[in-house]
Amino acid sequence: MILINDQFIKRNQDTHIDIEDRGYQFGDGIYEVVRVYQGKTFRLDDHLDRFERSAKEIFMELPFSKTETKLKITQLIEMNNLQDGIVYFQVTRGVAPRTHAFPQNAKPVLTAYTKKSPRPIDQFKNGIKVVTVEDIRWLRCDIKSLNLLGNVLAKQYAHEHQAEEAIQIRDNTVTEGSSSNFYIVENGKIYTHPADHFILRGITRIVVEEIANKLGIPFIEKLFSVKDVYRADEAFISSTTAEITPVIQVNDKVIGNGPGPIVRAIQEEFQKLI
Ligand SMILES: *Cc1c(COP(=O)(O)O)cnc(C)c1O
Repeated sequence: MILINDQFIKRNQDTHIDIEDRGYQFGDGIYEVVRVYQGKTFRLDDHLDRFERSAKEIFMELPFSKTETKLKITQLIEMNNLQDGIVYFQVTRGVAPRTHAFPQNAKPVLTAYTKKSPRPIDQFKNGIKVVTVEDIRWLRCDIKSLNLLGNVLAKQYAHEHQAEEAIQIRDNTVTEGSSSNFYIVENGKIYTHPADHFILRGITRIVVEEIANKLGIPFIEKLFSVKDVYRADEAFISSTTAEITPVIQVNDKVIGNGPGPIVRAIQEEFQKLI
């Protein structure tokens, strides 16, 4: 089953998305991806808070309250009997004749679906290779918008270069991955880009900060360059689906000595939470 506004319907059979839905034509909308472990959502409230913030930042009213959306999402998970996977939901500004400015009477459209997906355990254990790309995205990367072309091109570049993720560089500064936040470790301290409009403030990033605080590992928001990354003791990425994944190679440079002790400690604590 999938969700369209307040209706649970069978996928494909009765799915009807209008050709003039603004999500389809302009990417005019926002989304969230939430992890489900053993039938339970992980940090759903945080995702719903960010969802509300994204909506507010693009001057879009959500069709349902936080409580209503939460209920629908959890109902969908139950109906589909999802154990381990993700739930995706988005809201677009609705259906209206195509013209750039906001339509007068369009109603926002909520859609949601669930997907089974195993945790990428091998990558958690062994780490991944990443490559760097220029960050060509717009200047409101703090909004989880449906407009993902910059991110799509970055990830495609990574895949064409046998890498799992593309780490984006703006003005000599490392911002974040195409769908993940990025961190380096030096002298036992974690460094990551400040949560400003150049990056998406990941929910997993919040969890990483909480774990770091718990373990007494300094969590420092600071700008750093690719050169700093090459010199780092450890590197890792975080996201809802990648959780905490060690980065063992950046371009042609091997980082540290395989996954290091700090990333292992963060992973271990993360495992306890899910
Ligand atoms: C969603 C996303 C992340 C990770 O956020 P989580 O809430 O941890 O999944 C990081 N960067 C970008 C660009 C994203 O879209």
